[in-house]
Amino acid sequence: MFCFKSYIINTMKTLGIEVKHMKLKWYGTATILLEHNGTQLLFDPFFSLNDKLFKPSMEELSASDNIFVTHGHLDHIVDIPNILKQGDGEAAVHCTAKPCETLIAKGVDEARIHKIIPGDVLSFVPFEVRVLKGKHIVFDMGIIIKTLFNMRILSDWVNFIYMAKENRQCVEAGETVIYDISVSCKRILLMGSLNLDDNTNYPKSADLLIMPLQGRSDINKYAMRFVERLQPKKIFLNHIDDTFPPISSEVNTNPFMSLMRQRYPEIPVICQQASAEWIEIFV
Ligand SMILES: [Zn+2]
Repeated sequence: MFCFKSYIINTMKTLGIEVKHMKLKWYGTATILLEHNGTQLLFDPFFSLNDKLFKPSMEELSASDNIFVTHGHLDHIVDIPNILKQGDGEAAVHCTAKPCETLIAKGVDEARIHKIIPGDVLSFVPFEVRVLKGKHIVFDMGIIIKTLFNMRILSDWVNFIYMAKENRQCVEAGETVIYDISVSCKRILLMGSLNLDDNTNYPKSADLLIMPLQGRSDINKYAMRFVERLQPKKIFLNHIDDTFPPISSEVNTNPFMSLMRQRYPEIPVICQQASAEWIEIFV
């Protein structure tokens, strides 16, 4: 399909005019910042509970005017009240009913929250964000046993108690969503948990799939069904880090990368450490 913007971009490149790149930052866990032409969208902001890992700066996260939540678990919403307090009072949080209720219970002003449902389309020029029904990953017995029968429960007991308390309030309630983001003739599918709804038609061949890779003992093989179903042109891996031990763990991505090379050699996979560095995704 002819894309006028691509035509303009190619012409600008030919003429030696600077072209703005679509960029993202991955701050760890599922915290993603998208930026294009000065507009920024922040997804699932969370500060790592692991002192050995990179932590984003409060200043950077609180500078975003639009925060999106994929679902109501603590590693996707628990830091939002504090982030809003540190900001300039303008930021809006876009989330479904349950996280909306949780945030209000945590003291967030209702006026700051924009309740969304699947099917909504939101515009933040140059971005257009479509809300799709998603589904949360189902933890398998292997990962539950590995997590619970692990000495890390003792070494990270402070985190464990904090999470046990927060988990009672920060519930998912079957409301996980996926964001279908269009910008400058490109399409990004952003998942906050690795699962899809059986009855939803997802766009195939997105230019970028932002895909979490954590939560099951068979995660590598399990992830292939979503690559097969969505057929993205490129994948960016997130949620691969051990940001809330003892529940999380550092995922060895080598088996996934190897499976991808075997089955989908044409799909590049971006897999790197969390940081505050911009990553140029596409022009
Ligand atoms: Zn979750």
